[in-house]
Amino acid sequence: MEFSEKVDAMKRAVKADGISAKFNALKEAVKAGNAPPMNKDVRLIVERIIAQEAGRVWCQNCGKELTDPKSIALGIGPECRKPLLKKKVKA
Ligand SMILES: [Zn+2]
Repeated sequence: MEFSEKVDAMKRAVKADGISAKFNALKEAVKAGNAPPMNKDVRLIVERIIAQEAGRVWCQNCGKELTDPKSIALGIGPECRKPLLKKKVKA
């Protein structure tokens, strides 16, 4: 599973299991730097969710963080957009 899929799966699981309050407490602890020891993968996922909530965005295609407003709006970076644009011109 891709990292971004794991992040989405975690978000769905938190909602479905009704553990959002517990998960929010964990997020706050991670933000404050006093989180309990946890699985490294889980920690990375929690950190990514915190970053997403802060408005940071990653390319849906390659997973690189996006920084320019156009890419953020589209959810895809310039290098990954190029092949898509070529396709559009041909069609
Ligand atoms: Zn990309």
